[in-house]
Amino acid sequence: MRRRDALGIGIGGLLGVAAGVATASETVRPAPKPPARTHVVVIDPGHGGRDPGAIGVRGTHEKDVVLDIALSAAQRLAGRRGLTVRLTRTEDQFLPLDDRREFASAARASLFVSIHADSAPNREARGLSAYTLSEAPTDGFAKALADRENAADGGGGPSRPLPPRIAAILNDYVRNQTLARALRVKVALIEGADRLGLPLLENPKRSANFAVLRAPDVPSLLIETGFLSNPQDEARLRDPAQRRRVADFLADQIARTLAGPIFI
Ligand SMILES: [Zn+2]
Repeated sequence: MRRRDALGIGIGGLLGVAAGVATASETVRPAPKPPARTHVVVIDPGHGGRDPGAIGVRGTHEKDVVLDIALSAAQRLAGRRGLTVRLTRTEDQFLPLDDRREFASAARASLFVSIHADSAPNREARGLSAYTLSEAPTDGFAKALADRENAADGGGGPSRPLPPRIAAILNDYVRNQTLARALRVKVALIEGADRLGLPLLENPKRSANFAVLRAPDVPSLLIETGFLSNPQDEARLRDPAQRRRVADFLADQIARTLAGPIFI
């Protein structure tokens, strides 16, 4: 008799909890909220290993400054709620462009941010800019830059074919959605940089046909943090405090963007 009572109460309690209904012995508690979506962001420090990227007027290597910025940004993002950060490289290591892009797709990333520093024949050119993918580049400089970045693999042949999972979803709708998101992130990022007073390139919202941005399912951006060919920008990028400022800005902007309406 006693056992049956105990069993009855036990089952009643379980059913009550399962249905979100309080039993007589319980206080009323709201049903637990479903966990918020966790976004994966992939941060990609450009170049590495045998590919130094741009080399500054004082000999600064792009691969080193962008790795430092990427590591700082990832550190600032680590542990934030609803966000997981992954890096394509954490040391001075060569990585083909296809591998970087595929890493982001395999991680089911919500956002891929490739971090670079520019070089231009015009020594006056300076400031941060952000690129999204387009077969129609903003201007001749954007085209030359994408050609140079795409040659980072050693001028190798065409990209590897897309894996079947990606090919299956590769249709105009997905691609358009992906690009539309990337464009909105680019605008938000440049406006955020402007508000913060970071030096910006003239016409900083740019586009070009970068191989590393071609994932059809991951909104992808390439950030040029400044021009190593410009003495002021190079000095800024050589200064750990200034690199930190850029990294903090990128981290905060990424976190804010992923929590905002673009990714709902
Ligand atoms: Zn680069």
